Parts: sequence; C-alpha cells; structure tokens
Amino acid sequence: MTERRTTDRPSPAAPTRLLVVEDTREIAEALQDSLEAEGYEVALATKAAHALALATSHRPSAVLLDLGLPDRDGYEVLRELRARGSEVPVLILSARREESDKLQGFRLGADDYVTKPFSRPELLARLDALLRRSRRATPAAAQVAAPAPAPARLSDDELRAKFGLTPRQLAVAKLVAEGRTNQEIAEALGTSFYTARNHAEQVLRRLNVGSRAAVGAVFYGRAAEGGES
Ligand code: CA
Repeated sequence: MTERRTTDRPSPAAPTRLLVVEDTREIAEALQDSLEAEGYEVALATKAAHALALATSHRPSAVLLDLGLPDRDGYEVLRELRARGSEVPVLILSARREESDKLQGFRLGADDYVTKPFSRPELLARLDALLRRSRRATPAAAQVAAPAPAPARLSDDELRAKFGLTPRQLAVAKLVAEGRTNQEIAEALGTSFYTARNHAEQVLRRLNVGSRAAVGAVFYGRAAEGGES
C-alpha cells in the first residue's frame, strides 16, 4: 500500500484537506482510511446540513459528495455550495449511473463524477487530477489560506452593529450561515420549530437578503451587499 504521492503537494507541512460526504458508514470509513493513507486530512459528514457546515469551517481543497443523503439530496448540497460562491472542486461519488444524473451534477457545478462501486486507484487518480487542476487555477498561497477574499467572518460585534441583531438573532444567523435547517436550529437553541423559523425570517429581513444561502455569504464577507463584489 505505497502508492503514496506527495510530489505535487504544495507544502509538505500542510496536508490537503478533504470533505467526504457519505452516509453509508462502511463506505465512509473505507474512503477515509484510503484517503488518510494517501496523506490527506479528511473530515466526514453523513448529512447534507453537516456537510455545508464543514464546507465552511473545514475549508476543504475538494469535496467527495454522495447523492443519496438522509436529510437532503447531494445535489442540494452542491447547489448551495455554489450559491454561496464556493468554487471548491466537487467529485460526485454515487451509485446513480444514469446519464441524466451525471448531467445534472455537472450542470450544478460538479467537477467530476465517479459511479459506485468504484475502483480505489481510479478514484484516487481522479481526485489527484482534480486537485492538480484546481491548484493550477488558484495560486497555492491563496488556496492554503482561504479561497475567499476576506479570510475571517465579521466579528459578533460587527455583525450586531451592522445589522442591528439581538444576541438571539445573531445565534440564529450563525446557524443559518452554517446551512442548518429550522428544525436543527430549534434543537440547537432549545426553541420550538416555529420560534426558530420566525427568528430565521427576522434574520433574513435584518440582513436584507432573499435566501438562507446569502446569509453565509454576508457573514463570510462574500456578499454582493452594497454593490461590492
Ligand atoms: Ca448514500
């Protein structure tokens, strides 16, 4: 098991981070083992909401995305990532073999599509090619640090001052920015679903945005608010 390839990695000190989105435990763990054996650092999500949160916090260099997830379709994850302005390379890994599924994936911004059951060497080779293409397109330093122009989100004080958010609205806004559903927000904050939904609606109004995806963009400084890009 020494197909290890480290020659193209930009810096040996910084392992390439990957996000694996896969709800079938055995597949997820096998993938994680294979990828870690290749020197990648792997974060694992088994649900769409978790995947979106990790895509923000973990800042992966690539995402391996299953389509059949328990809470939302993998396509929705991809759609939301792109709506947030993320250009992270996405490799769909799915049992769906229909051409229409693949086309749908590419239309939504996938970079590659591998069908299950997959060959491990082929998957690793495709992933490697994907990362190489992505590195050529992005200067290495920017890639390692942060893909967005603003590396950090606005501070809590800045957010409260800028949008006039109450502490509770701020807490809700952060969860919305992570891609959580109203139900998940209700559970996280110990409120009813309806209270969570009301808060989330207030947050959209305060931030003057039309979608939940845009909340993340505002928080992480990638918004088109005020006319800047
Ligand atoms: Ca699945």
